[in-house]
Amino acid sequence: MIQAAGTGKLVVITGPSGVGKGTLVRSLLNRHPDIYLSVSMTTRSPRPGEIDGQDYFFVTPEKFQELIAGEQLLEWAQFAGNYYGTPRQTVEDKVQQGTLVLLEIELEGARQIRASFPQAMRLFILPPSMSELERRLRDRQSESPEAITRRLNRAIIEIAAAHEFDVQIINDDFDRALTEVESVLFPNLPELSLPS
Ligand code: 5GP
Repeated sequence: MIQAAGTGKLVVITGPSGVGKGTLVRSLLNRHPDIYLSVSMTTRSPRPGEIDGQDYFFVTPEKFQELIAGEQLLEWAQFAGNYYGTPRQTVEDKVQQGTLVLLEIELEGARQIRASFPQAMRLFILPPSMSELERRLRDRQSESPEAITRRLNRAIIEIAAAHEFDVQIINDDFDRALTEVESVLFPNLPELSLPS
């Protein structure tokens, strides 16, 4: 059985919107089905193809406030005009059971996790450049021009905080970035060959 790094089993992946975190995480889950990816709550609207309960739990602002008041979120933050948060119970149960739990969350949430789960391993994914990040955000055509501007402004703040994380990985070459993430999570894993 391969053990994750550190004493904790909680791994946080953060990085600016458009950096490719989602794609990295999906590949990671395909290759390591034992990893549990936490499904977040959000007040943002579903993008085409997103499924409630799978990509996110899509909730109303009122419901989100109830979750905060009931202390049912392990962390939460406002991001580009919407609320996002991690359901507390599921994550705590999975960690308790010894499962490697992955949170794909933004900077404010990652800071809260550092306070509540200091043993968590925290990774920051960087773009090769701001212009490349902007190109990726525009290419995915999922946001309005205003939303893209908000996300780019937020990206500048997030990137400035990358040094707060245990590990920084530049997503210029996808396969290399994925191998680097794996070598952090599974330091004892022999290098695997990636499908071309
Ligand atoms: P998106 O709207 O593109 O799906 O996500 C926007 C940002 O919110 C991304 O940086 C994503 O990592 C972050 N995010 C997703 N779920 C959560 C969460 O539960 N908590 C926090 N703090 N951020 C989240």
